[in-house]
Amino acid sequence: MKILENISLKPYNTFGIDCTARYFALIESLSDLMEIFAAREFLKLQKLILGGGSNILLCSDFNGLVIKIDLKGIDLLTDGSIKVQAGENWHDFVLWSLENGYNGIENLSLIPGNVGAAPMQNIGAYGVELKEVFLDLEAFHIETGEIHVFTNSQCEFGYRESVFKNSRKGEYVILSVRFNLHKTDEVDIRYGAISKVLENQGILHPTPKQISNAVIYIRESKLPDPKKIGNSGSFFKNPVVLKSDFLLLQEQYKDIPSYLINSLEVKVPAAWLIENAGWKGKVIGNYGVHKNQALVLVNYGGAKGADIYELAQKIQASVKNRFDIHLQMEVNIINGTN
Ligand SMILES: Cc1cc2nc3c(=O)[nH]c(=O)nc-3n(C[C@H](O)[C@H](O)[C@H](O)COP(=O)(O)OP(=O)(O)OC[C@H]3O[C@@H](n4cnc5c(N)ncnc54)[C@H](O)[C@@H]3O)c2cc1C
Repeated sequence: MKILENISLKPYNTFGIDCTARYFALIESLSDLMEIFAAREFLKLQKLILGGGSNILLCSDFNGLVIKIDLKGIDLLTDGSIKVQAGENWHDFVLWSLENGYNGIENLSLIPGNVGAAPMQNIGAYGVELKEVFLDLEAFHIETGEIHVFTNSQCEFGYRESVFKNSRKGEYVILSVRFNLHKTDEVDIRYGAISKVLENQGILHPTPKQISNAVIYIRESKLPDPKKIGNSGSFFKNPVVLKSDFLLLQEQYKDIPSYLINSLEVKVPAAWLIENAGWKGKVIGNYGVHKNQALVLVNYGGAKGADIYELAQKIQASVKNRFDIHLQMEVNIINGTN
């Protein structure tokens, strides 16, 4: 295994932030991983586990060891489940599943990043979440070097949440994920935007592949392409608020949208809050808030992660001030100066 020194992380994060990693290791096997965690010279260093870098904001140079997970392989197991190694690209896996007649993740087409990071925040889009097709995962326990299996319930999946972002934060490297995909042509078109695209195309009974194509079409027309404008997708989560608080807000803001979660709570689109706090399309030098997507913070080229983080904090403060709602950041903030 090769350890690189003082390398730019710009190609390794979709925000395109140009920070330097003191050390960088590419992990292609379990033995690479064991070796790197056992190496005396790296024991005390801060470590960053990296997938595709599409859900991080680098706020400083990383004065430690970046461990890029590049484990590869997709295996069909005898029980019909599919085991995918952490370093496989998520969208490539979606395409693989469709080509091989396995369905259930077509709504999650074109989400950037790798399979190993997908359980971290229980990725979701267009009415479907990872947890619906997730069986279990294998993870390397950093402290003991043991391999532990986490079942669906043990992952404690929630809306962009899992045990790995909470009580088990920083304890594990996810090695592989096992999926339970189905062979039927059953599809999920509850999400309005998908049915609209299909309707326009005159498709009445869509196949999973047609759903995937519709999702790709919507995403490409809606979201900025990180290859052209640096970003990490939705910067904030959609806040969940008490229905009673929401009704009070609605008296003041008649057109405020919401989705019922249960009898007591509603979800409010963060994009609406940010836009109505005046931030949509704001440009501050070489970074800002995307002109079409208020949820997406962008790097127009050469921006510093710390500046984007400061912008995010200002947005949080102004939304809190105006609507008394706290916006939680979805993107993982990385500060590597320790
Ligand atoms: C344009 C765009 C659109 C997006 N749309 C969506 C969307 O629709 N839905 C959605 O849910 N997300 C979306 N995202 C966010 C992102 O794609 C997902 O969160 C994705 O799962 C991140 O994968 P990654 O490999 O890039 O993770 P990284 O950014 O590399 O890492 C994310 C976090 O996981 C940790 N991590 C990564 N790999 C491992 C591992 N093997 N073991 C342990 N920890 C690990 C990292 O340390 C970090 O804390 C979008 C991002 C972009 C840029």
